Order: sequence, then structure tokens, then C-alpha cells
Amino acid sequence: MLLRRKKDQTVVTRILQRSVVADCRIKNEDGHFLPPPRRTPSPKPAHLEDVKDSREESNGERSQQYQGLTGLRNLGNTCYMNAVLQCLCSISPLVEYFLSGKYITALCKENVEIATAFAYLMADIWLGDFDCVSPEVFCSVIGDRHPAFTKKTQQDAQEFLIYVLSELHETLKKLNKRRSQGSISIARENRGISPETSVITQLFEGQLSYEITCLECQNTTDKNEVFTVLSLPIPSETACSLQDCLECFFQQDILTWNNQIQCSWCGTKQDTAVKTCLAKAPKIVILHLKRFDCQGSYKRKLGTDIHYPLSNLDLSPYVYPLFRKNPKYSLCAVVNHFGYLDGGHYTAFCKHTVTQNWYSFDDSQVTEIPHSSVQSAAAYLLFYSCQAFSVPTRKH
Ligand SMILES: [Zn+2]
Repeated sequence: MLLRRKKDQTVVTRILQRSVVADCRIKNEDGHFLPPPRRTPSPKPAHLEDVKDSREESNGERSQQYQGLTGLRNLGNTCYMNAVLQCLCSISPLVEYFLSGKYITALCKENVEIATAFAYLMADIWLGDFDCVSPEVFCSVIGDRHPAFTKKTQQDAQEFLIYVLSELHETLKKLNKRRSQGSISIARENRGISPETSVITQLFEGQLSYEITCLECQNTTDKNEVFTVLSLPIPSETACSLQDCLECFFQQDILTWNNQIQCSWCGTKQDTAVKTCLAKAPKIVILHLKRFDCQGSYKRKLGTDIHYPLSNLDLSPYVYPLFRKNPKYSLCAVVNHFGYLDGGHYTAFCKHTVTQNWYSFDDSQVTEIPHSSVQSAAAYLLFYSCQAFSVPTRKH
């Protein structure tokens, strides 16, 4: 089913239109279309209220069932960007955070452009009246900070996702006092948790624990590391299950030869056993299927058909026993990659929080798909949530 609504309008013109409205309300604006870090105090996230009002006047309230179903124009090899953005813009708690204006109070003084452009894109996707919008403002803001993403060449969707999450975290983070006080701080540092939190860490940050054992003296040390994306090896060239990939990731590794680790007890490098487990599973787990196999100059893509569940993914076997809570995860979004290494095409499948139907987002095209089509051999990034999403609301 193709969706209705008006054709296409660039985000640039619409943001310019909105900033005209904002300028009327707030003095000291210099006409720049992205708002400054700290606006004149305003009781509400005025820019989004303005958007809603102007649209209601001309078009009436957009039916809830179509909210969030907006295509993104391809700006020249930007399908990797579009697919990732569609997945992020389908994650209800993140949608709510940006549409409600909560992000404005969290903005740091510097580098607010990416979070602001992301919020506008979210508003375009959720509150706009168009079948398709252009992400060019977001793309150019990202490109200012990381030029590789504006080169009009295909980039890796996983690298782009990590970059966007990290930039949003940097802009929206605040010091968690509880995390940063005295002995707790030291304990936290040892566990690898940063003392700064943001909506990104609250939703996507998990923690891995490595138990490192010297095979010479049996001395064991623990090391912790936070993650937002788990990169899973694929143990078959033809077909396997997601559990096979998870087991492969969490199985004990024996490091020998060049990979030996320095043992503090022996004082030399020794053969070492490393056992990985999840010390903290995030609310939304992002799994990266390592289809791109690069060993030196040898590169290939694994087309393995990986079977993954749409619901009831159980991560508890990999969670450190003390922290085991037994949540079950449901699939909420997928980034697909079709084709080979350097060319290829990315699309996204996202579950709509209002209708609970699945939609395919292929740049500007948005199509409803049956649940049975969500499982495909093209899956590259899988987003699983341990909570059912509610319909995002704008006001708090
Ligand atoms: Zn040792």
C-alpha cells in the first residue's frame, strides 16, 4: 500500500518558514534558521507548537495512523542515512523526547546543530503533511562535523548510526550527580560507565563485562566496556539463527600468539581466556550483523540467511547471573543492505507504534508490508526493544 498526502517539500524551506514564525515571537534572533543554544526563556518548545498550529489551520489534524510514515528523499547515495534515520525516528521514546521539546532544556552550549536538525527532521516525519521530505539540513549539519557523510558516496550504515548516537549524546548529556560522587564514581569508572547521561545512554547504552584469565597462572581480572551497538560475528555462510550469532559472540575466546594479553601477575604476555557477558542489557538493543568481512585486502559480503525472531528474543543466557532480569525483546526496526560491498542499497523496515503494522522505508517510498516479509536475508542492523512502545505524545 502506498501512502497518500502531498508530494514533497524540502526541509530547508519549511524550517525557514518556521523560523520566521519563531522570529516574530523571540527577539535577538539573527535570522539563522537553527535556533541558538539557549533561547530567551519560553514556557513551551515554541517551534513545534508553531508547526502544529500552522498545519492545523491549513490541513486539519493529521490522522494518527499516518504519523511517522514519511519517506526521505535520496540526496545521492544517502540511502544508508535514510534507513538509519527512519529506524531512529520510529523509536517511540526517542520520538516523544524530541517532539515534546525535552531536548531543548538538555542542549549543551556547543554543537547544538545536530540535535536541533534531528528534532526538526523528527517533526517533519511525525507532524508534517508530506509523503516525502528532504533530510538535506540534517545531512549538511552532519557533513560540517564529519565530511565523509556528505561525499555522496555510499557509507556504512552502522558507522553512521554510531556517529549519530554519539553526537546526540555529546549534545544532550548532563552530569549524573549520583554517578559522579565519591566512591560511587570510582566504582562506576571501574565498571566502565561514564558519569554523564543522556536520552541516548538511557535508551541504548549497555555494558559488557570481560572475565580475563591468564592460562599460565589462572589469575583473573575483570574489565568492563559500554556499548550502543553489538557487532555479532556470523558463524555460517549459508544460514544460521540470531542465537547462533549471539552464542558465537559470547563464547569464550582463547587468545594466543600475537593476541596474547599482558598478565599483571606473571609480568609477561601469556595465553589468555576471555569470557564476555552482558553486565547490563539496554532498553533497546542494536545488533549489527557483521556481513562485511574484511581481512587485509580481502573483502567480501556474507549473504547468510540469518533467522531472527520478531518477538521473544531472550538475552538472559548472556547476562551476568547477578544482573539477570529475564526481559524478552521484540523487534522494532531493521536496516537492510542489498547488493555488494561498495555499491548496494539500504532500506529500513519499521514497526509503526500506532498501528503495530510493519512498513518498508525505501528512500521516498513508504509501503506497508506483511509481518512475514520482515524476516529477510538482507538484514544488517536489528533494533530490539524490551518494552512495548506507547504512542508518542508531544506535550508534558
Ligand atoms: Zn599470569
